[in-house]
Amino acid sequence: MNPKQLRQIWEKTGGHCHFCGDPLEFDKYAGKEADGRWVLNRIAQKNKRDSDSVENCLAACARCSGLRWHRSGEELQELLYLGIIAKKEITNSTTVGKMLVQLREKRLAENESRRVSARTTSTVTASDEGETDGL
Ligand SMILES: [Zn+2]
Repeated sequence: MNPKQLRQIWEKTGGHCHFCGDPLEFDKYAGKEADGRWVLNRIAQKNKRDSDSVENCLAACARCSGLRWHRSGEELQELLYLGIIAKKEITNSTTVGKMLVQLREKRLAENESRRVSARTTSTVTASDEGETDGL
């Protein structure tokens, strides 16, 4: 993928993540800094050559890309649907909602401790990184 192609992909969504709409800084493509970092999201997993075409790629923030990981569109719809139900429980402070808040905090703490240990051991592969989901 050359810089011109990257620019075309970035411009398809007006420099925003195609999932959440957050602004993406073009110069932070695949960068190290978490804030504003963006990556390519392949719409269809075809063969390697077609998969890397400008037509098959959209810009996504690193966080959304991590959440999507290997999931199909159908799985993402199910996650969004469950998320809407969960959000309503949390907003209404139901018993389930309070449990969900606790589970979310626990998960975030676990992800953070995994990141810290990954930084100290540096043996984490890209697939391990995706496994954390950022959830
Ligand atoms: Zn995003």
